[in-house]
Amino acid sequence: MSTPEWADVDRYVVDHLVRDDAANATLRANAEAGLPSIDVSEAQGKFLHLLARSTGAGRVLEIGTLGGFSTLWLARAVGAGGQVVTLEFEPRHAQVARENLDRAGVGDVVDIRIGAAMESLPVLAEEQPEPFDLVFIDADKVNNSGYVRWALRLSRPGAVIVVDNVVRGGRLADEASDDPAARASRDLVELLAAEPRLDATVVQTVGAKGWDGFAFAVVN
Ligand code: SAM
Repeated sequence: MSTPEWADVDRYVVDHLVRDDAANATLRANAEAGLPSIDVSEAQGKFLHLLARSTGAGRVLEIGTLGGFSTLWLARAVGAGGQVVTLEFEPRHAQVARENLDRAGVGDVVDIRIGAAMESLPVLAEEQPEPFDLVFIDADKVNNSGYVRWALRLSRPGAVIVVDNVVRGGRLADEASDDPAARASRDLVELLAAEPRLDATVVQTVGAKGWDGFAFAVVN
């Protein structure tokens, strides 16, 4: 199947199951602000929402906010008593996300922290926060293994860790590929295989954003 057909199916799914005014407004505002269109797909945003709801996640850690599209879906899932802490390097992205989340009415449950996540995570850990129930990792891919190590430190047994974009058009399985992000994906899979506190798999995805996939791990 070619990529345009994958996109057609995504459109069909979105039309029937995902269409949402606040999500659309967020994507529109991101485009108007000139943010890159590298948010999760609309179907994946809804999937993250359903994942958080189905696992009863009240505390979510997100690494990589962009304009807050995935954050919006996660924030709606945690409800009024919950919290999403989301880490973003670019102040401009964080500002657009703040506006989007406030407009959508979920701003009060989202704590956006600006800075390099590998620097924000030790600061967060110092605060000894309540453990997280769900961690969504979607930032600079070369740091994915480091982010998973922090996610392990900050989450409870039974928590779910999702790492986006690990398949990279199949380069995950291409040992000859010198794409740094693909190499980081292979390092991540080796970490997931070796780490006794994690049970994990990788699920491939196709759709409007092409061929990719996510790692999915449960903390033992
Ligand atoms: N999760 C978002 C969504 O689906 O709506 C998309 C996130 S986008 C793929 C990746 C984001 O990570 C960008 O906004 C980028 O600025 C941010 N980022 C890149 N390197 C980072 C770092 N070292 N620390 C924190 N954020 C980083």
